[in-house]
Amino acid sequence: MPLALFSVNPNFPSRQVIDQETFERLLPLAHQWAKAQEQLILARGVPLGPRHIADAHRVGVQDCSRVKVLVVDRIPLPDNKELAEASRRTHIITDASRGATIGHGIIIRADCWGDRELILHQLVHVAQCERSGGLEPFVQKYLCDRRTCANFTVGSLEDEARRIAHEICAADAAASKNVSAHSPFAR
Ligand SMILES: [Zn+2]
Repeated sequence: MPLALFSVNPNFPSRQVIDQETFERLLPLAHQWAKAQEQLILARGVPLGPRHIADAHRVGVQDCSRVKVLVVDRIPLPDNKELAEASRRTHIITDASRGATIGHGIIIRADCWGDRELILHQLVHVAQCERSGGLEPFVQKYLCDRRTCANFTVGSLEDEARRIAHEICAADAAASKNVSAHSPFAR
């Protein structure tokens, strides 16, 4: 459970929950890992393009110019073995993750780059992090949020990201259908 990560995983509730003692021991490691990852993404990532800036505004991101996106072959797990294992077991980041957000840094797996809903989801996490007052409070809040859910299921922050991304995509799909239905060029 590390990290500030918010990944979009196939969500299978985990049966092995992290106990309180392990959670408290791993939390500082998760903070360090998240901080280092955010710095790396901000240093190597690219700024948002116009379409993603519009989406970022739409989900409430305040400082869009600070957001950077890094496209990778695989979402990185922490080097620390125990932290990596906890991350997998809780489905926060797994080998199947398609994207993750750490503060203003977004990592997207290369084969998912065209998935607008996935990017919207990550942008909601950026907005949540800004509202929390920064990376460290957000990591804490996110992990506690997930931890207090039964068996480390998704938690309210994850629910919000999934819901908003899905609603925006569904609304835009409905609107574009409507436009083409009324277009003089529609057949
Ligand atoms: Zn998420």
